Amino acid sequence: MRPVSRRRVLQGGAVTATAVTGVAGSPFAGFGGLVQAAPRGTVPDSAWEELNRSLTGTLIRPEDDGYNTWGHPQNLRYDAKRPAGVAVCHTARDVRTAVLWAARTGVHLAARSGGHSYGGYSATTGLLVDLGQLDRVRVDRREGTVTVGAGARNTDLYNALQPFGAALSAGRCPTVGISGLTLGGGFGFSSRMLGLTCDSLLRTTVVTAAGNLLESDAVRHSDLFWACRGGGGGNFGINTEFTFRTTPVDRVSVYQLDWDWEDVPAAFAAVQALVMAAPNAFSCRIGGGAAGRTRKEIRSRRTLSALGQYFGPADELRELLDPVLRAARPQRVLIENRTFWQAKDFFYHSVPSGRYAVSSRYLDRPLPERGVEAFVDAVDVWPGSSNPDGAGMAMFAWGGAIGDTGPRETAFWHRSARFLLATETTWAEQDPPSLVRANLAWLNALNHALEPYDNGYAYQNFIDPALRDWKRAYYGGNYPRLTEVKHAYDPGDLFRFRQSITG
Ligand SMILES: Cc1cc2nc3c(=O)[nH]c(=O)nc-3n(C[C@H](O)[C@H](O)[C@H](O)COP(=O)(O)OP(=O)(O)OC[C@H]3O[C@@H](n4cnc5c(N)ncnc54)[C@H](O)[C@@H]3O)c2cc1C
Repeated sequence: MRPVSRRRVLQGGAVTATAVTGVAGSPFAGFGGLVQAAPRGTVPDSAWEELNRSLTGTLIRPEDDGYNTWGHPQNLRYDAKRPAGVAVCHTARDVRTAVLWAARTGVHLAARSGGHSYGGYSATTGLLVDLGQLDRVRVDRREGTVTVGAGARNTDLYNALQPFGAALSAGRCPTVGISGLTLGGGFGFSSRMLGLTCDSLLRTTVVTAAGNLLESDAVRHSDLFWACRGGGGGNFGINTEFTFRTTPVDRVSVYQLDWDWEDVPAAFAAVQALVMAAPNAFSCRIGGGAAGRTRKEIRSRRTLSALGQYFGPADELRELLDPVLRAARPQRVLIENRTFWQAKDFFYHSVPSGRYAVSSRYLDRPLPERGVEAFVDAVDVWPGSSNPDGAGMAMFAWGGAIGDTGPRETAFWHRSARFLLATETTWAEQDPPSLVRANLAWLNALNHALEPYDNGYAYQNFIDPALRDWKRAYYGGNYPRLTEVKHAYDPGDLFRFRQSITG
């Protein structure tokens, strides 16, 4: 468990909950015998004190020690959205207590596991239900399963599985939460071989708006289980635990190819052609971009690389990559044998950080030359920023085992796409608002230029507050069924945010 800073005392006058709305009609009950939603306005200290007393974990208020370390979202763009209280939950019962309290008081709540929501949706001005302490991971060797607490992150999962030589496809960034990752799909360098993270899910426990702790799987509350595999975090309840099936893993090989910027067109063409024909064992991310504040800096800090994993030996991988190596000669080539666990360390990466905006789109075929040119042209006019992560575009090989599951079998719709394309820009606190606006306009223009080449869909885990037609883009033909599940489990819309599913 991660250490919890002890709070001082709960003190101060009545607190205004800035995100208060009524929850009339919610079938909640059981919190201190009160079932009435609070009127819009203030939530008295006595209510917060009551919550504090009811938790085995900790309630942290703005005036408490440690508030500053608990309040921040990963994307600091949303840092101004600070919670009126953080319920640091130690048990599923604490989660239930927090949910019922929010339902009764009308204070907006948001669940936070890894805190990596691109859109800042695990930040709230109301009650932040922090699940970070529920990070226990238990492996059942006999069953070949792993049970993960909602607060566990990629690194906790990998660390627990390594001694058993078994894995599931999880994410690349060590600190991304398994909760958000799974609920929105979850892909990584093993997904073309092992499927998405949500494809390995066997059951999950959910605290609903009514305060029920429901076990859901293929038999029990199967509609909720369906929705928890791609229906997106923060929509139906708060998941407290996930059980996944695992697959034995052993040795793999990895590669990284770095090119000069001039090679962008040839490298993109060759890598995409390879991906279209490659076996499921092969994965790939090709990405490039620039960083810097001045034009001179930006020009000198343009990078392009491809990296990925192959479930097979390095000599086979080299053979597979040969057409790429011949079509666009890289400046640097790394192709090596690794254990699965060394490969995971090789890929560990946490960009973007600081303040940023990310968009995504799916492609059914390779990005044509004109699309690649649009990206190169965009980098030429990127306004720059002080964030060392800069701006750029990355394409991930989709397909393989991801397509073994039908689009309606789980709530994850994007099964037949061949590439996921992400665009992003980052900036820093010291950058002036005009530069931030210029960066967002730049991202918007790049997205617009790439629009002709996508299939109209986008990845719900790269959730983008600027995306307009998001219901269709994230959930496709599954949206109507998701609204039914929402209606069944959260009829009062307790779990809501700007792009949440409505019943
Ligand atoms: C640096 C970085 C790297 C990334 N790399 C990858 C990657 O390799 N592959 C990939 O697929 N995605 C990746 N993502 C996207 C990532 O999958 C999503 O941002 C995901 O939602 C993060 O989950 P979280 O638990 O960390 O986030 P959170 O911000 O805690 O949660 C995300 C959403 O789910 C809700 N939520 C959180 N916990 C729960 C819960 N227990 N029950 C119900 N709802 C909950 C939140 O309220 C929020 O709406 C990356 C994101 C970042 C920032």
